[in-house]
Amino acid sequence: MAWTCTGRSNEELIDKLRKAGLINSRRVASAMSQTDRRHYVPEKEYAYQDSPQPIGFNATISAPHMHAHALEDLEDFLRPGMRVLDVGCGSGYLTAVMHRMVSPTDSDIKGTVIGIDHLSGLTDLSVRNLKNDGVETGSGKGIEIVTGDGRNGWSLGAPYDAIHVGAAASTLPPALVDQLKSPGRMFIPVGSSEQAIWRVDKAKDGTLTKTELFGVRYVPLTDKKAQWSA
Ligand code: SAH
Repeated sequence: MAWTCTGRSNEELIDKLRKAGLINSRRVASAMSQTDRRHYVPEKEYAYQDSPQPIGFNATISAPHMHAHALEDLEDFLRPGMRVLDVGCGSGYLTAVMHRMVSPTDSDIKGTVIGIDHLSGLTDLSVRNLKNDGVETGSGKGIEIVTGDGRNGWSLGAPYDAIHVGAAASTLPPALVDQLKSPGRMFIPVGSSEQAIWRVDKAKDGTLTKTELFGVRYVPLTDKKAQWSA
């Protein structure tokens, strides 16, 4: 599926993702339309290409079709007013889209999205990209970018309706499961040499259900030093 959805503009990219059946939700399409990828990629000429791209520090912005998969899968847990954690926020792109879903501009209901990355170079990048996209971050703004080890989650903002993890964990981090609401859903790549997306659902009574969705290749959810030593 990769590369088939490349467009010449953000609108064309989203249109192709819809026609390919990768975006079905009107709310996902609307939030992705409001979030122009050119603010989040270093090489503007590749902004609408359906592939991952380097953003520095051995990190990549995920491909648009992967962002679409994640948003579609989490959609029920990205309703206006909900609380969200984006682990490995990198470019800040998905943090922005999820912010626009939980705090839509045409409603008074405001949700909260916290983006976390372990390298300050990347949290600085997220904040800059969001600002260029017209999104101010900080406490009280409904969107916050914090620096820390995302394997421990971010307990200050817990519990979360939705947790998105943008890097592959070798095993499911228990802190993230703890910080998920009942009900709540996590979308997380798991595995080392072979990775797959897991959907982790926590039911109202706290029961966990793990569903393996499809194989992927993500950068690892790891130690700062293992990713980047400058
Ligand atoms: N969703 C982002 C993905 C960025 S790549 C985007 O599309 O732009 C994965 C990110 O996970 C990188 O930014 C990397 O720095 C981050 N990461 C890796 N291990 C981490 C950890 N232990 N804690 C927090 N972030 C981590």
